[in-house]
Amino acid sequence: MGSSAVIHVAKQGNHIYHYLEGPLPSKDQEVTLKLDWTRRYAHMRMHTAQHLLSRIIFDKYGAMTAGNQIYAEVSHIDFAPATFQSDALPAIEAKVNHYIKEDHPVTITVVERAELEMEMDLDRSDLSKLPSSIKRLRMVRIGNFDAYPCAGTHVHSTGELLGLKITKRKSKGKEKIRITYELTPQK
Ligand SMILES: [Zn+2]
Repeated sequence: MGSSAVIHVAKQGNHIYHYLEGPLPSKDQEVTLKLDWTRRYAHMRMHTAQHLLSRIIFDKYGAMTAGNQIYAEVSHIDFAPATFQSDALPAIEAKVNHYIKEDHPVTITVVERAELEMEMDLDRSDLSKLPSSIKRLRMVRIGNFDAYPCAGTHVHSTGELLGLKITKRKSKGKEKIRITYELTPQK
């Protein structure tokens, strides 16, 4: 019985493709998928940190999150439109670390879209981009200060992030800013 590492997963139409490094199973062969928990947990921490940064930077500077890329070691978020400067970073970082220290629970609920559209009026999520066929949404709440529809994976409480450091601010064009960050590694 062999094993291979899944190095990439992609969805095309109704098919989910797993790209393997190593021997390929033969057609109709039954396989067992094993999760790389260390990597998954690192992504969960980074992604939860992204929710915090997006919330804080939206509240303070009105900058919307335009995209993000999560990796186990270092991640980045693009904000646009955004105009905050480097001198804003220490306060942003301090606020994230404040929320980490306070150890707020991260909770998941499923809500009706119509209900949410009322609640999230003028908030940082733009529900108009979601296909109208989606009637219910998975809501991720952090403490009582952030609520965002998201299908991703998250930690149970902000304390698990241990600490966050913003390592770079880069202008990516007119009113587009990329923030790169790292988390305190786990012991
Ligand atoms: Zn999320």
